[in-house]
Amino acid sequence: MRRLYFDHAASTPVDPRVLRAMRPYFLREFGNPGSLHSFGQKAIAAVDASRESISKLVGAKHFREIIFTSGATEANNLALRGAVEFYKKDHPDAAHPRIIISSIEHESILETARVLEGYGVEVVRLPVNKEGVIDIVALKEALNDRTVIVSVMHVNNEVGTIQPLREIKFMIDAFRNESSRADISHSVEYPLLHTDAAQSFPYLYCDVELLGVDLMTLSSHKTHGPKGVGALYVRRNEAASGGNVPLIAQCVGGGQEFGVRSGTENVPGIVGFAKAAHLAAAARGKISTRVGALRDELWKRIKVIAPAAEINGPMGDAKAPHILNVYFSGHAAQDLLTRFDRAGLAVASGSACRSRAAEPSYVIEAMGYDKTRAAASIRFSLGKGTKKRDVAATAKIIKKALG
Ligand code: PMP
Repeated sequence: MRRLYFDHAASTPVDPRVLRAMRPYFLREFGNPGSLHSFGQKAIAAVDASRESISKLVGAKHFREIIFTSGATEANNLALRGAVEFYKKDHPDAAHPRIIISSIEHESILETARVLEGYGVEVVRLPVNKEGVIDIVALKEALNDRTVIVSVMHVNNEVGTIQPLREIKFMIDAFRNESSRADISHSVEYPLLHTDAAQSFPYLYCDVELLGVDLMTLSSHKTHGPKGVGALYVRRNEAASGGNVPLIAQCVGGGQEFGVRSGTENVPGIVGFAKAAHLAAAARGKISTRVGALRDELWKRIKVIAPAAEINGPMGDAKAPHILNVYFSGHAAQDLLTRFDRAGLAVASGSACRSRAAEPSYVIEAMGYDKTRAAASIRFSLGKGTKKRDVAATAKIIKKALG
């Protein structure tokens, strides 16, 4: 049986060119980047070249603005926890700092926010509309002079919605200008703007200036790199005296990653991530167009098979090209998943990080739909390796499963 993979939003296969780039760093160049001898020097040179390459791809001003982590989950934790702790240190008298997130963020943001809430941080969760776009007026109303960070994901991992980050940035800038907090005694201008770009990087231009973000999360395995590696872009204020990174390290020890994230760097992983990011950025336009056309073709075929099926989330330009989330009225997602899997088709009913819990999608519920719809929706996510014949074969399996 040929297996069909339509779960690229969960993970992607490593590109053979990425694997080739990583290989020497497992075998020959295995030194610790912190060691002073030639083995260590080769390793640190590879880490720094990777850092330089990724910093250019995201339009960072300096390669020191890229902090390697174990993935997007850790980067998201570091962004929120690190920013709140820094703020508290910088403002020892401030009571109840506020963070603002969207209600459809990935679990690594939602859970971090919940933990912070337990420590007295006020969390505002922005509602979204039927297409999964945040309520910008609610954001405007939520901004106050205790707001440390606004975290809104670039592309949602379940329904593919692209958030209006530029608009969010303009709103934050206007707030910063009006606010009495344009207070230069502190080294950081609050609120910071963070985005989780784990899903968007392979398909959308993720330039930190264009998006207007201060912090940006990336994940290697969503873009044909290895698992267990990612990065947090952190805008530096080089003019500030002392702490020019507005974060407190969450993992301390040997002081790697400029003291922001200790631990021996995952050298092969980092090299692979940089190679994968480079390949993705170089082919982004072409791949987005091709994958988007295949996604539309899949939807067309599903509509013929199941005329009552509906899309969760927007279509067209307001959506990342690789995600199609479909409501199959009258069919439990878990049943469909099993039937599809038996026929060789891998899809998801939500984020892979939560799928063991088999709960209805909180993203679809947050978009204003009921639990029934949230529990009867399937995410198909395509990748650069998806072929036209895979779409045709998938349609056949769907037809049989819906019986
Ligand atoms: N954020 C988003 C939007 C994601 O889709 C994922 C992966 N499901 C993550 C964060 C977590 O990424 P990682 O596996 O690198 O920790």
